[in-house]
Amino acid sequence: MSNDKQLTTGAGIPIGDNQNIRTAGPRGPLVVEDFQVFEKNAHFNRERIPERVVHAKGAGAYGYLVVTADVTKWTKARLFSEIGKKTEAFLRFSTVAGEKGSADSGRDPRGFALKLYTEDGNYDIVGNNTPVFFIRDGIKFPDFIHTQKRDPRTNYKHPQAQWDFWSLSPESLHQLTTLFSDRGTPKSYRHMNGYGSHTFSWINENGERFWVKYHFKTKQGIQNNSTEESTRLAGQDPDSATRDLFEAIESGDYPRWSVCVQIMPEAEAETYHINPFDLTKVWPHADYPLFEFGELVLDRNPSNYFAETEQSAFEPSSIVPGIGFSPDKMLQVRIFAYPDAHRYRLGANYQMLPVNSPHATQANNYQRDGAMRFDANGGNDVNYEPNSAGGPAENHVYDEAAYNFTTDGVGARYDHRVDADEYTQAGNLFRLMTPAERGRLIDNLVQDMQPVSRDVQIRQLKHFHAADPAYGEGIAQGLGIAIKDVVDASTAVPD
Ligand code: NDP
Repeated sequence: MSNDKQLTTGAGIPIGDNQNIRTAGPRGPLVVEDFQVFEKNAHFNRERIPERVVHAKGAGAYGYLVVTADVTKWTKARLFSEIGKKTEAFLRFSTVAGEKGSADSGRDPRGFALKLYTEDGNYDIVGNNTPVFFIRDGIKFPDFIHTQKRDPRTNYKHPQAQWDFWSLSPESLHQLTTLFSDRGTPKSYRHMNGYGSHTFSWINENGERFWVKYHFKTKQGIQNNSTEESTRLAGQDPDSATRDLFEAIESGDYPRWSVCVQIMPEAEAETYHINPFDLTKVWPHADYPLFEFGELVLDRNPSNYFAETEQSAFEPSSIVPGIGFSPDKMLQVRIFAYPDAHRYRLGANYQMLPVNSPHATQANNYQRDGAMRFDANGGNDVNYEPNSAGGPAENHVYDEAAYNFTTDGVGARYDHRVDADEYTQAGNLFRLMTPAERGRLIDNLVQDMQPVSRDVQIRQLKHFHAADPAYGEGIAQGLGIAIKDVVDASTAVPD
């Protein structure tokens, strides 16, 4: 009969002594037959799994998304099919560049990764707290992240690499303006917005497609730490955001976001003056206003950090019927990269882990075997398809809706900088800030760029100046550079 108070080995064998190793005499060496001490230490040595290359430090919670307005004319997705419908959710917040033990408060975008356990399988919206990103073509992602990490020789972080890269990648300017603004140091995970960032599609019952962008607007209000406060917290309270989220939920103060969407009919993408699939640009609200249709609430902490938050795995490829992708060049690469990262970090069966498996339905397929396959592995059911045994089969009802990937089907590496407007929206953001906000933005940038080489400073200043002359002049002044030298400089900016 099992006794859950009896300490056992992994094989369930009762342990008599967990304090003393087995030795040859009271002062003699360890005897090799003490398999208990070997098992205990060997398992301990294997407690760590690879940390995520990005978004390594995170905090998660469960909750739900409830629909508050009718969106059925735009999407047939069943989770959005009626007002009042609730879908269970898991949300993982994170910082991006720091390692798993890094401080929560640093200047960095924040991840906002949402898993919705729908009756049609899991729907993941893997976003950030910023509506745009540093790059728009996924082929640049590994290079970009290398500049955010440690120097390959010294193993410390130095801003030279990131400003070198950013100054040569002017599409980063819009995100940089957000990152170095007050919103670059959110007070907590509760006091910031989330954005799906990419353009996705919604498909209705008639097969009509609408391009959409998700916005999750915090009901706690936007609150940010000053640069000084975020530096203090990094030293004195490095887990500040993780703790804030846990304690708020534990005390019944459940964080909430209103769930909104911008909607563009499919054909308008052809004529809209901004490329709607460019991740470095927003859709101005005046053109595409937000439509609020739901509320997201977090009301339950995980009971085990590793099992749930660390092992949670989100992937923009997980979409459900009624939802579609878009030709966004970052999204297209992320559709591959995220599941690939999970297979490396967690193994081929990562979707079977409880936090990742569907909760409102079940996986039904012919995937078998693989490391750590800990369920019945399909038992003695047939393991191929098609079959005559009545096993799970396809249903064309669920075929993806067709869409025009391109009006010109020639395969080539098209220049993603073709519209060359890297400046208007970054300038718009600068101009909507109050004078005090602009002053802090400029101070933060001057502080970060100070250690960078002069040629890179000047190349980057040209971008700030192009976004708004006052923006460029303010930073140039802080760096002790005459704006005339910036304007006159012939420093090369890529085509
Ligand atoms: P709007 O004036 O309609 O929208 C500006 C939006 O900017 C606000 O709704 C708010 O978005 C966000 N915002 C306000 N203050 C700040 C700040 N200090 N720092 C960062 N973001 C702020 O104009 P547009 O839609 O034409 O956008 C103008 C600029 O605003 C854009 O170039 C972009 O940089 C920024 N922005 C636009 C968003 C969009 O989806 N259109 C979303 C976020 C920023 P929110 O409610 O999401 O906080």
